[in-house]
Amino acid sequence: MDTIQIKDKMFTVSIKEQDILKEVSRVANEINRDLAGKNPLFLSVLNGSFMFTADLMKRITIPCEISFVKLASYQGVSSTGVIKEVIGINEDISDRTIVIVEDIVDTGLTMQRLLETLGTRGPKDIHIASLLVKPEKLKVDLNIEYVAMNIPNDFIVGYGLDYDGFGRNYPDIYTVVD
Ligand code: 5GP
Ligand code: MG
Ligand code: MG
Repeated sequence: MDTIQIKDKMFTVSIKEQDILKEVSRVANEINRDLAGKNPLFLSVLNGSFMFTADLMKRITIPCEISFVKLASYQGVSSTGVIKEVIGINEDISDRTIVIVEDIVDTGLTMQRLLETLGTRGPKDIHIASLLVKPEKLKVDLNIEYVAMNIPNDFIVGYGLDYDGFGRNYPDIYTVVD
């Protein structure tokens, strides 16, 4: 499918699954190389990163743990970085090497808040792995060490990312047509 409709918007395919997986494999290799011996705890940020997390973790070959967190935002806020709370951290992360696994960093405000929250729990170090980054929109200074792909400032869906709840199931990434 090259074009899909979700509610009122049309989307056209922009990054095919096989091209995504090539970059995901590269990122996994970098993490395997950099974090060997650190027994990292991967914290996958739901919902958007579920597909990236599955494909990434199948390629991680070093001993590690995986857990999932969710960020509860105030209603209607998707990209302002206003987070009510981080749900689901049951592990003791003190003195652990953490890898945050995110779908997309846009303004970076969400990631900044997550780093602040995790930072209060005494981790040894925190690394960031993001499937996508929109460099033109970044508002805060973040060290995103592991990036599968930088993308332009257009709204995208698929491969875990949604438009109003729909579209997460597609294996390719689609860009809105306007
Ligand atoms: P931030 O601006 O705080 O970096 O990003 C906040 C959230 O906005 C992301 O976690 C993601 O849920 C959403 N977001 C930003 N850009 C896009 C996009 O192009 N497509 C989709 N589906 N969500 C996006
Ligand atoms: Mg996300
Ligand atoms: Mg969303």
